[in-house]
Amino acid sequence: MIGRENRFFMRLSALSENESFARSSVAAFALTLDPTLEELSDIKTAVSEAVTNCIVHAYEGAEDKYIDMTVIAANDSLTVIVKDEGCGIEDLDRALTPFFTTKQEEERSGMGFTIMKTFMDEFNVISAKGQGTQVTMTKFIRGARDAQSRRDAQIDRTCQNG
Ligand code: ATP
Ligand code: MG
Repeated sequence: MIGRENRFFMRLSALSENESFARSSVAAFALTLDPTLEELSDIKTAVSEAVTNCIVHAYEGAEDKYIDMTVIAANDSLTVIVKDEGCGIEDLDRALTPFFTTKQEEERSGMGFTIMKTFMDEFNVISAKGQGTQVTMTKFIRGARDAQSRRDAQIDRTCQNG
């Protein structure tokens, strides 16, 4: 079946303990596409970087804030949108430069965006100072079409057998 989308949305408190929950939830959802272990690991790493950025940069550790995540499984890809309503990024080009960080004193390496870009197949950031940030990233899943075909065949068999 081509053109079918499966979505999931979650809003979670911007707390550091939710970073692993966000990463694991997206990974569990991604399993419907039959990813390889490497694809799954890449997705988890990218989600982890995006969510961490919301917690440490967007909200600077404030605990009464939220991160919105939308995850879309479509055909042969998984798209993850991570959105915050935090401080936003004044100079996006600079922020996307490898090794650039505004938190040198916290020993951040400035590699989060570079990792997201490298580990995912498509990557886009929308941000403006004072208006929050939205990161959209897509991973193409090689085995996804096969998995969907197998599920469709299974449904057909179930229908035929009543
Ligand atoms: P690392 O990810 O290696 O720990 P880092 O977070 O500083 O370090 P990036 O993730 O590449 O590196 O982010 C680069 C810079 O972009 C950050 O230092 C911060 O200034 C800014 N930034 C990133 N995400 C956000 C966000 N969601 N809200 C506000 N600023 C952000
Ligand atoms: Mg980062």
